[in-house]
Amino acid sequence: MSSLPPDLEARYAERARMVDEQLAGRGIAAPSVLDAMKQVPREWFMSAEAADRAYLDGAQPIDCEQTISQPYMVARMTELLQLRPTDRVLEIGTGSGYQTAVLATIAKAVYTVEWHQRLINQAAARLEALGLRNIEYHCGDGSLGWPEQAPFDAIIATAGAPDIPNAYREQLGPRGRLVIPIGPLADQRLVVLKRGDEGFHETEVLKCRFVKLRGAHGWRDEDD
Ligand code: SAH
Repeated sequence: MSSLPPDLEARYAERARMVDEQLAGRGIAAPSVLDAMKQVPREWFMSAEAADRAYLDGAQPIDCEQTISQPYMVARMTELLQLRPTDRVLEIGTGSGYQTAVLATIAKAVYTVEWHQRLINQAAARLEALGLRNIEYHCGDGSLGWPEQAPFDAIIATAGAPDIPNAYREQLGPRGRLVIPIGPLADQRLVVLKRGDEGFHETEVLKCRFVKLRGAHGWRDEDD
């Protein structure tokens, strides 16, 4: 990671074009999401050598054999969370911290949980350098959520689980929204779960492919 402060202007034109073509051009409509993704420099969350690939239309490798999600997927998942500026959000799978930055730009507070200490340390340094201070970090098993900080207005998992972990239902506040990839890796679906006055309502949105959610309510190593 570079020790220089982020240069927000350097790739502004590339970023604006990504937002127009890959996001707005494919139906992302929420102004808060489009604005946030025009602001957050994706290259800042990648290695210096990978910076030229920051605005390509795909996921990219990061440390610890994980990936930074495709910009469209970050936008779509964020839009599905229907965030308001007063919302408290739980994010499972900090990874590079890019999705965290987008959430923290829109919502009041983000609670992010990552399995790998190395990734969360790197992400925290990057997010702090961008001036984002409304984020709490926890290294551990995010398949359990973060009970001490619950309830949340929104929960987003950026790693795929076998099924919806019960902890997420329990930690979702009134009218809360959860977005998560579930199912076997070869047949993963992005699912939205909403807590309504009369219980939960689940919708399947699209087919997808995310890395595995580990831990107690995720995949076991022997599932590899
Ligand atoms: N939103 C991230 C995507 C990271 S990939 C980005 O755009 O960069 C998913 C991340 O989930 C990986 O960093 C992986 O280490 C993490 N992960 C997997 N299982 C986890 C668990 N049980 N708890 C917390 N993080 C987990």
